[in-house]
Amino acid sequence: MNEIDVLKKISSNLTERKNSAALSNYRVLCSNIAFLNEAFSNAIGTLRLLHGEIASSLRSDALLNPKYKSGTDLNAFIPIVSRLQLNSFSVFEKLATLTTPDERAHITLENVSALSRGFDDYNNLVTATRQYIDSIVSDSYQLYLLDPKSFNYHVLVSLNSFSKYATKSLAHALFNAEVESALSEFETIKFKNWTKSHITECNHNTFAQKVDFLFSVLGAPLDPDLPDAVKNIFKFSSEFTHIGYISTFFTSTSGAEVIFGDDEGPYLPSTENFSELKYEILETACKVLVATYIPSFVKCLEKLMLKPQAEKFSTSLHLAAKALSEAIASRNSKYFFFVKTGLVGSATSIPLTCMCRNKKTWAPPHATSELFCDSCGSSFQLLEVDGESGYIITSNGPAKIIGANVPDFHDLPMTEQIKLLQQCEEARKAHGPQPGSQTGAAR
Ligand SMILES: [Zn+2]
Repeated sequence: MNEIDVLKKISSNLTERKNSAALSNYRVLCSNIAFLNEAFSNAIGTLRLLHGEIASSLRSDALLNPKYKSGTDLNAFIPIVSRLQLNSFSVFEKLATLTTPDERAHITLENVSALSRGFDDYNNLVTATRQYIDSIVSDSYQLYLLDPKSFNYHVLVSLNSFSKYATKSLAHALFNAEVESALSEFETIKFKNWTKSHITECNHNTFAQKVDFLFSVLGAPLDPDLPDAVKNIFKFSSEFTHIGYISTFFTSTSGAEVIFGDDEGPYLPSTENFSELKYEILETACKVLVATYIPSFVKCLEKLMLKPQAEKFSTSLHLAAKALSEAIASRNSKYFFFVKTGLVGSATSIPLTCMCRNKKTWAPPHATSELFCDSCGSSFQLLEVDGESGYIITSNGPAKIIGANVPDFHDLPMTEQIKLLQQCEEARKAHGPQPGSQTGAAR
């Protein structure tokens, strides 16, 4: 293959976009986006609410560790921490506004083109994602370190770039004699010495190094793929923000789209593809908030405040992280149901109530491709059993066998319920917890 062969392949394949197929179930995507976007917004809301209380505690010397009380050198960090947080919230909120689900209520065949997604949509979403990922990693890094030289480096590099092109009014609003003198001091340092000088330091220069450092000190995240996902999102968004050829081509070619449809109305392949990306981004954004920002902030408060005060806030912060983790885990999950042997393949419809409370009726001929929840995208696995009692004892609790001629567990007389729960407790002691099984869905 020579250079002309490659050029021809590009010319014939990457100049006109083929119609992309809708890859996932659009309704499930919209429902999951709505659910996770709400959980994400709630977490940001909680952080904002806590910020007020934390800021007022930080103003009280009696609640601070001696090293950070008024009059000490490190007291300079008190207003900085408060400001850093407010900056991050603006960036977080922007991503939350751009990751809401598509509004489909008034979409008809005539106006379905309103759902078409192109360059502007991708550009806005991916740029906001880049800002989010950049700012959350850098803020987590600074909050965790609370180190004067590292913080100086971060601010002076940015101030130095800003001053190059800032208009008079912008410069006037930001620069005063003190800031000027700090910047002049920085300008005396040669570029190659910026990362290690008498006023600045940066031990983790690149984005990837900061990510690795954070996970090494905060502990590995629940999702082992998260560090790579964060780095990949960074590269992916670079392609967009620096207007790489591929992203521009992919998003700017407009052409007639095939119209798809489901129970809620018509939609377009580009709408669905865009939603798929939106969901992926939202999921990673939530995981990063849980795995880096919140734990770094907890570490920061432990440094600044006396133990009881820091603990009070870290409990609330951990609760917010837990709620968000649970929200993520409840989407696209896998749930097990116990059904009576012989029911699958019979003429009877099988009721399956998902953990998200969505009720599905699995009608004959019981196609396995239908074994998923159309609200949260979780897949269902059925285990056929012949339980004599009509219930299955699992380490997660008793579960009624679907199709068994017995009342639901919660409709049983209390003495019967207690008896079943005792059997479950014995099973738990005998076998230990069963990781990953979600037998509660079998209720
Ligand atoms: Zn569900």
